[in-house]
Amino acid sequence: MNYAITTIPRRLSIVVPLFNEAESVADLHRALEALAGRLDQVHGLAVDVIYVDDGSRDGSADVISGLRSDRLRVELIRFSRNFGKEAALTAGLDAATGDAVVFMDADGQHPPELIDTFVRHWLVDGDDIVYAVRRRRQEGLGYRLLVKSFYNLMNAGNTFRITPDAADFRLLSAKAAAALRGMRERGRFFKGLSIWVGFKQRKIDYQPAERIGGTTKWSFWKLLLLSLNGVTSFSRMPLRISTLLGFAMALTAFTYGLWITIVCLVHGVALPGVPGVIAILVLIGGVLLINLGILGEYLGEILDEVKDRPLYVIAEHMRREPADELSRT
Ligand code: UDP
Ligand code: MG
Repeated sequence: MNYAITTIPRRLSIVVPLFNEAESVADLHRALEALAGRLDQVHGLAVDVIYVDDGSRDGSADVISGLRSDRLRVELIRFSRNFGKEAALTAGLDAATGDAVVFMDADGQHPPELIDTFVRHWLVDGDDIVYAVRRRRQEGLGYRLLVKSFYNLMNAGNTFRITPDAADFRLLSAKAAAALRGMRERGRFFKGLSIWVGFKQRKIDYQPAERIGGTTKWSFWKLLLLSLNGVTSFSRMPLRISTLLGFAMALTAFTYGLWITIVCLVHGVALPGVPGVIAILVLIGGVLLINLGILGEYLGEILDEVKDRPLYVIAEHMRREPADELSRT
């Protein structure tokens, strides 16, 4: 006899992290309202939207408070300061109570129509994680190479693969969401974590739209630090490379020393070699410093984890049933 428990999915939670998106959020809200109508009609799904205001300074929270909705249950989580997108995604995930959770950007670059496809794969094909992959990157060649090498390094030695060009735009079933909720590490890389949990996954190609308004919230340094986080939290390869490099250098030095000794003994002359010595010293110094830096990155990550601070601090959490006023909880 089969005792499998089946429940009919009723609610979808959509998590929207936002930082200074006052220009875009009203348009997004309208698009989500239309989406909720479609999902209700086709699948009988109700939609919750959870806006996570990541310390915006442009009145994004006020815009959201003013949004009316007949269909959507709206939650607004306001952080006490800017904690970063990873933290905002986590706060949304923690608050989400739906049978599946969708994550999308607030700037209109993630087309809401794709959520219909996500939901279809989830409900019809039984997929646990459906994620969008950018069809074509618009950035320059140098940047693309940099991105590619980061992903290669991150995936090195792993039994799972994080796809380059995957967006944070994705749907997680209740099972996958619960697994992700259980991972409280501080050095977070959302795309990687949600692949790490496993389950039945599906990729979908998409073409990101233009931003509705405002500008990108990522600086070169923010992106570089996020990528470093991704590498150190998913791969031990840099540590291994530094060990191997150490071995290679030691072996070279040993062979070179042997050669000098032999030349000395056979020909009875000391090799004049000050420039050579300097070059080798500098080389060894450089490699040592690089290896120290790599070690430091991992040590820093351990320090972050050990401190065990919360991932974010909430200043305000409001909730509103469809057609109600936003009220504090
Ligand atoms: N975001 C955020 N906190 C940040 C930076 C960005 O919540 O510190 C949000 C931002 O408001 C947007 C999403 O993350 O909804 C993606 O950011 P953005 O569009 O600037 O990134 P891009 O599309 O350029 O990669
Ligand atoms: Mg964007």
